[in-house]
Amino acid sequence: MPTTTRAAVLRQRGAPFALETVTLADPGPGELLVKLAATGICFTDVGVQRYEQGTPLPHVLGHEGAGTVLSVGEGVTHVAPGDRVVLSYASCGTCPNCSHDHPQYCANFMALNYSGVLPDGRVPMHRGEEPVYGGFFGQSSFADHAIAYARNTVKLPDDVPFALAAPFGCGLQTGAGTAYNTLNVQAHHSFAVMGAGTVGLAALLAAVDRGCHTIVAIDRVAARLDLARQLGATHTILADGQDVMLALRAIIATGIDRIVDTTGASPVIRAGLEALASRGELAMLAVTAPGTEITFNPNTLLGGRSLRGAVEGDADPQVFIPWLIDRHRAGRFNHAPLVREYPLAAINEAIADMASGVAVKPVLVMD
Ligand SMILES: [Zn+2]
Ligand SMILES: [Zn+2]
Repeated sequence: MPTTTRAAVLRQRGAPFALETVTLADPGPGELLVKLAATGICFTDVGVQRYEQGTPLPHVLGHEGAGTVLSVGEGVTHVAPGDRVVLSYASCGTCPNCSHDHPQYCANFMALNYSGVLPDGRVPMHRGEEPVYGGFFGQSSFADHAIAYARNTVKLPDDVPFALAAPFGCGLQTGAGTAYNTLNVQAHHSFAVMGAGTVGLAALLAAVDRGCHTIVAIDRVAARLDLARQLGATHTILADGQDVMLALRAIIATGIDRIVDTTGASPVIRAGLEALASRGELAMLAVTAPGTEITFNPNTLLGGRSLRGAVEGDADPQVFIPWLIDRHRAGRFNHAPLVREYPLAAINEAIADMASGVAVKPVLVMD
């Protein structure tokens, strides 16, 4: 019996989302059907809404879903109908990086997360005879129902509300994972985050959890810096044209030990590199605009400094998301102040609020 569901469909690049009723394919082997309760909105969704990235239209986006399993296809054993789950990015499980516990660098990442079709080529949704593409990050969660895979479906404890759980699937995993995994921040480190949106603030929360003695947040929006202080930042820098490198050096003259860049802006990344302490590390996680280049004096890297990139917080969702949720349940990772709830029907308003800074992490809740 095919499932009919309400979905926010993108029909034209740059157009708003429109709620439509579509029919969802039945879950095949290794797949499952999820009744969504909440889904976060991430800048990746907005990027695909606005810019051509190879995703066919019409398309259902959304990649921070949380909800309840309705049915499972053959071979899905770690979750069962009725289980509460969080959905993360998809990976193949068989390529060299997947085989060595690094599914975030899956060789089939683009095909599994952006192609618009399921791995066997099926189109996941239809409206009448018209194909509606999806399978976005193995879910397409801007809808009441989604097809997900065993590998990107993570079990959720009963005591974590769906609206708080949803952003663990991408934004929180990405930011926190970059601090915990990529940079392995420690109490003896000074730490700075450049760009205090959801991802940056998740990195900051990880630095707070690890007890970093100095935690600096940098942003162009004063309200985000207020939030950063509320979450545990010891210093903030309003990037209103001042030299960020000098501002960081004014806080610690010898430099900062660990920096996360979420801006993808070359002058900011360069300022961060020049503000690193000896043996300091800077991790960048944002996709930069096409044509972006960064120039810096290579001698900066002498003194043991390093610049590296990471996606999805270097995290395997099946391992990292349950671990991070446990930190949250233990009161050591409180991201609740970031979340602002909207009904699914208010998706365009939620995106506008995210762009203007009214909302840090909008989460759509299904009624
Ligand atoms: Zn793979
Ligand atoms: Zn995302």
